[in-house]
Formats: sequence, C-alpha cells, structure tokens
Amino acid sequence: MMKMHKIAVIGGDGIGPEVIEESIRIVDAAGKKHGAQFDWQRLPWSSENYKKTGHMVPPGGWELLQQHDAIFFGAVGSPDVPETVTVHGLLLPMRRKFDQYVNLRPAYLYEGVPSPLKDKAPGSIDFLVFRENTEGEYAPIGGRIYEGMDADTAVQVSLFTRRGCDRILRAAFEAARKRKKILTSITKSNALTYGLGLWDDVANAVAKDYPDVKLRHLLVDAAAMDFVRKPETFDVVVASNLFGDILTDLSAMVTGSVGLASSANINPEKKFPSMFEPVHGSAPDIAGKGIANPLAAVLSSALMLDHLREESCAAAIRQAVAQVLKEGKTMPPDLGGKSKTREVADAVLAAL
Ligand code: ATP
Ligand code: MG
Repeated sequence: MMKMHKIAVIGGDGIGPEVIEESIRIVDAAGKKHGAQFDWQRLPWSSENYKKTGHMVPPGGWELLQQHDAIFFGAVGSPDVPETVTVHGLLLPMRRKFDQYVNLRPAYLYEGVPSPLKDKAPGSIDFLVFRENTEGEYAPIGGRIYEGMDADTAVQVSLFTRRGCDRILRAAFEAARKRKKILTSITKSNALTYGLGLWDDVANAVAKDYPDVKLRHLLVDAAAMDFVRKPETFDVVVASNLFGDILTDLSAMVTGSVGLASSANINPEKKFPSMFEPVHGSAPDIAGKGIANPLAAVLSSALMLDHLREESCAAAIRQAVAQVLKEGKTMPPDLGGKSKTREVADAVLAAL
C-alpha cells in the first residue's frame, strides 16, 4: 500500500510560489517511481492575501497546518508589507508554535558548481549545520526606552535554557554519530559568558553520552575564517540561532549560491509538523521573471522526504540535481547559465 503524505503548501511571496510549484512536480514524479503519494493542500497565505484580507494566517490557520504531515514553504516578504506581518506573523511563530527547534542546513559543493574558493574538489565541502531555532539571540525579549531623546536606549535579551541547549546539541550529536563523528560547537562564550557559557557546559555534559563523537569548541570569529579557509574540516556543526543564521549564509556562498541552499525546520519528536524551505527569501528583484533557481527548493523537498521516511525518493531527487549540475547544460543565471526556472526543473525531471 502506498502511503499518502498530507503536505500543506505555502508558496508565499515573490519567487516562493515559482520555485515551490516546480519542486512539487519533481516530488510527484519521484513518488510515482518510488511508491509514494502526496496530497498537496495549497494555502494562499502571502503578502498579497494579507493586503486583501488583513491577516497573514487566517483564523483556524494554525490548527489547519497541524493536521498535515509536513509544511512545504516558499518565502514571505514583500517591499510594501512590514516584516512584523510577514516574518513575525508567520515564519517565526511557526517555528515556535510547532517547536521546530532544529534548523538543519546542509552545505555541499556539487560537481559543476563553481565555488568562490579556489581549488575545492566536488564533495570536499560536505557538512551539516544544526542551528538552534527557538531561543537564543532571537528570543523576542527587550524594548526601547527613553524614546525620542538623546538617551535613546534599547535592551535586547538572549535566552538560553538547559533544555533548549540540550535538545539541539543532542540532535547534532545524533547526526554526527551517523557521519564522520566530528561535532563542532560554535559560540562566543569568551565574550557572551552567561548564555553561551551555559551552552558550553551543556555541550560538555551531553558529550559524555556520545563518547564515540569528537566534540570541538570553536569561537564564531575563528569559525567564520575556517568556513572560508578550510571548510573541508567540518562534518557536523551546531550553533545558536544568530550565529547559525549568519554562518549558513556564508556556507551557502562557499558552496556556490544561495540558489542551492536548502533547509529544514524540524520538530524531531513529530508532535508537530516540520517545515521545509529554501534558505533564500522572496527575492523581489527577480520575481515574476521566471529566472529563479528552483534547486534550493527542490533540495529542501528532499529534506522533507527524508523526514517522511521516503528516503529513496529523496536520494533520487538529490541524484538528479547532482546530474543536472554536473552536466552543466541547464544552469540558472545565479550559477552562470541562461536557463529559466522551468527549464532547470524540466532537466531535473528528465534526469529522474
Ligand atoms: P530574507 O530576508 O527573506 O532572507 P533577503 O533580503 O535575504 O530575504 P533574498 O530574497 O534571499 O534576500 O535575495 C537575496 C539575493 O539573492 C537577491 O539578489 C536575489 O535575487 C538572490 N536570490 C535569492 N534566491 C534566489 C534564487 N532562488 N535564484 C536566484 N537568485 C536568488
Ligand atoms: Mg536573508
């Protein structure tokens, strides 16, 4: 019996719907070959919809999402709608409400993709970043005081809990155990001694449960250098919300383009649906032109298939993407080619 997976689809704004629709064609084709079926429920939640209806998430929206096995997400963000509506009305609450505390972002240098770093062999950059996704520096705690005076003052508080540190570190240790068994924990605990000091303590405690994994501590400034100087030395990386955010833009660039960077927002306990999205945003500068690279979304769909235990579908999609990049005949503009979004997706379908 074929399993039917119920997927909520939020294409969102700009290039979001463009890359998501191409990915859906590819997932359906992979499913057909590998015995998986998908029931896609498209939700029109977007900035345009907000301007018409006055809400980003309609009443009952969160309950509706909760009924799905996964959420496939494009991007939200529009020049004429404030981020308090888009990012703070949909994206960040989703991560918190559904306790998607693992933000997984793979970095992989595919054959045929030029890296700005010279002489890097295909596959030599191959690591996973586990970014803490629910607390840390992005905890919405703080305020502005004495407004309108020269004394204007702002408070922005980071929040670190033992529970929060423990669970992201365990997820990263588990992944490292299945790979090269090297986990790099990235902090700035020499300067941010309270919050990231606690993080370090928890990392050392959790490490006792993983004696087979080597734990390395690295400060974020040194890590930024090493992501460029010797990215091949990383296997699994774990970092707080802010540092994980910044470092994954860096890792996306050293592996070619943000147009290839995929991500997963995971609730490992599967109590709530997990969400899968390209790292890039809505890219208003290229929206509607049909030139967005769809591969970041396609590779995010592969992460979704892993999570749904459709590993052979996921592997087939990654294989097909790798083949298209290696052949180099159908490359989107961000990778130096002239192919349109649709043509790149068609090439992946043909490779499948
Ligand atoms: P967000 O705040 O949502 O992260 P952002 O301001 O970081 O968004 P993006 O929307 O990610 O910005 O766009 C950054 C740049 O990368 C833009 O020049 C955009 O055109 C380019 N870009 C983003 N995604 C793609 C893609 N899939 N294909 C090609 N170019 C892309
Ligand atoms: Mg961004």
